[in-house]
Amino acid sequence: MTTPSPGCRIEANALSKTFVMGESTVEVLKHASVTIEAGEAVAIVGPSGSGKSTLMHLMGLLDEPTGGQLLLDGVDVTHFNATRRAAFRNRRIGFVFQSHNLLAEHTALANVMIPARLAGASVAVATERADALLRVVGLGHRLHHKPGELSGGEQQRVAIARALVMAPGLVLADEPTGNLDPRTAGGVFDLLMQLNGQLGSTLAVVTHSMALAQQFPRRLTLVDGRIEEV
Ligand code: ADP
Ligand code: MG
Repeated sequence: MTTPSPGCRIEANALSKTFVMGESTVEVLKHASVTIEAGEAVAIVGPSGSGKSTLMHLMGLLDEPTGGQLLLDGVDVTHFNATRRAAFRNRRIGFVFQSHNLLAEHTALANVMIPARLAGASVAVATERADALLRVVGLGHRLHHKPGELSGGEQQRVAIARALVMAPGLVLADEPTGNLDPRTAGGVFDLLMQLNGQLGSTLAVVTHSMALAQQFPRRLTLVDGRIEEV
């Protein structure tokens, strides 16, 4: 097991995000504010196009806000340059997407090792961490399978192990079970929640499923570009 790291605290103050497309502008977030405490598990729900992914991209330092302020771990990261953003992401944030983006030619173990190797871990250390995490997600018997040889749920569990291999303080999952049947989706959510509890990492999950969102102690939604509690 990787060393547990304390969760990341998120503070968004009046975040705005406007996309300019030729003549037209789309104001997706308009003074959206929220505080998510370290170690919290939060579901983000809401209709398609309401800005859930945009918010995840801002919180994950994959995109920059047009206005407002974002603090992660109490640090103002709003205007970090690309290098500092990448460094913060690699050290503190794990992502799980709907399409898992696993590398087809690599085994489960090799896929999970990637973030650790990128962070400078030796092959031996990366292998040990990846091996341990794959066992945690119940794939100890699938270490040397390639994505194409795994079921959808198993592939998503590999993606979760990859997201967690650096023991990030913040796990961001954007519709991680969108392609899975309800039962498998439930299993993946149980796993995310269990790891949140075990590792103390902050967890924010976007989902369309009310049944899954209801398992979370806290639910947020986007209404007219602002964040509201459900
Ligand atoms: P959700 O994840 O809730 O479905 P998104 O955050 O993906 O919503 O998108 C919110 C709105 O912002 C949509 O109207 C979408 O078309 C627009 N949008 C998102 N990303 C971009 C972009 N890179 N350029 C222009 N418009 C975008
Ligand atoms: Mg989305």
